[in-house]
Amino acid sequence: MYQLRDYQQELIDKIFSAWAEGNRRVMAQLATGGGKTVILAYIARTFLEQGQGVLVVAHRKELILQAKQKLEEICGLECGIIKAGYPAEYHKDVQVASIQSLNRRKFRPNIGLLVYDESHHCSSKTYSDLMERYPDAYILGVTATPCRTDGQGFKWLFDRLVTGISTRELIKLGHLCKFKLFGGKPISTKGLKTSNGDFDQAQLEDRAMALIGDVVPTWEKYSRGKQTIVFAVSVAHSKGIVELFNKAGVISEHVDGSTPDLERAAIIERFRTRQTTVLSNVGIFTEGFDLPAIETVQCVRPTMSLSLWLQMCGRGLRPSPGKEHCIIIDHSDNWRSHGLPDEDREWSLDPVSLRPTKFTQECEECRHIFTPLSHEQTKPISKYLDKEGALWTVHNAICPNCRHSFEYEQGVGGAGGFRVATKGYGDVLEVSLDCTQVGLNTFTQLIAEQEASGKAKGWIYYRALQNPEVRNFTLGDWRFLAEYLGYKQGWAYKAFSEATAVQQSA
Ligand SMILES: [Zn+2]
Repeated sequence: MYQLRDYQQELIDKIFSAWAEGNRRVMAQLATGGGKTVILAYIARTFLEQGQGVLVVAHRKELILQAKQKLEEICGLECGIIKAGYPAEYHKDVQVASIQSLNRRKFRPNIGLLVYDESHHCSSKTYSDLMERYPDAYILGVTATPCRTDGQGFKWLFDRLVTGISTRELIKLGHLCKFKLFGGKPISTKGLKTSNGDFDQAQLEDRAMALIGDVVPTWEKYSRGKQTIVFAVSVAHSKGIVELFNKAGVISEHVDGSTPDLERAAIIERFRTRQTTVLSNVGIFTEGFDLPAIETVQCVRPTMSLSLWLQMCGRGLRPSPGKEHCIIIDHSDNWRSHGLPDEDREWSLDPVSLRPTKFTQECEECRHIFTPLSHEQTKPISKYLDKEGALWTVHNAICPNCRHSFEYEQGVGGAGGFRVATKGYGDVLEVSLDCTQVGLNTFTQLIAEQEASGKAKGWIYYRALQNPEVRNFTLGDWRFLAEYLGYKQGWAYKAFSEATAVQQSA
């Protein structure tokens, strides 16, 4: 039996306390690499020991199979699978299910605990309906990134959020490895449409295709010979990248959602055993894909989703013998818009208002702006034709912030109204996270002066800006200062950007 780490036990205690305090539906956040499945397995066992069954719902085949395998391996829990193509084993006390198969089948396991794996994906009514079908069961959602891009938040689905150890702490403790970041320069390009809370796929592909020529040279420059996972925008994009790598003599393979199981397993095995150096994928390896062998994550897709960005980076952070740090190459500016993978983040169940677009709705009561859930969009409560003959549908939406229910109308076949994003590709340069001697000296000296004089902490920053060397301070220097002063890491990036602006105006 696996020995729990201290922070894992702490999170388990927090979850049980939250339940004990009357919050039936608890969401637990734990950084990727924190050992989510181990925690799950322990909690599941507690329920089993009391004679209560456990149902784990995951949204993708890989995650279902992985959850089963890990629960069996780590805790010796025998799991049945509820998923098309897999034989039913309803007599087993732990069932791992896809929500679609669960909906289709009559069988409802008798359970005391219902778990939603990667619960940031729980975006449809199916999930709340399932909870209601088990009014006496305890509910646990687990995720590394409780955030979403549709302004829905999680208040409508969970009562309480408990958070576990951060990525930064995991790196400090050696449970995750350090990283080096090579980031794209921001180029203001406008016009990328959004759909479903992220960039429009077709437009993104056009942009990404234009960039394809940079991928191999950038890799050669920063990551030559390293086991690399590439995140591409589309199948065509990914295949294009693979072709270029292979032409350059770097053995490379492509995998996407339509790759048959056996072939995919063989491809992953060739990567694991280093017969293949570069493995390019579309949306396959974002979650739950644990390969410590990954030395480089090459991200050739911008995203509006913080979740997706953190999941992609997380693939490279698994420690492995001989791996000093992982290399993260970001061809766009995800690292600027979402921050570095080890930044402290304040997670919350609360929805965050979106910028208004054609696809968003504003709550009449609390002015919260959000995208209605899919069933609200697709099931109109009535329809009518206006005088000009246009068909209008009337929908009902529930505000995820205040639960106010209101009607909104949509003209059929409308276009436009998309929001303009300022993102683009550019040269990829190292963003140094190491400290420089001059940066360290400057800050150490200023800190001493500030402490002796009793001046406010902010004084250090303004004095630092007057240092003629300030333009050479690295993001690492500013992160050092932020940590020393107890500021958030996000502050370091702002200070770093402003210090760079000093250079431009000087
Ligand atoms: Zn509201």
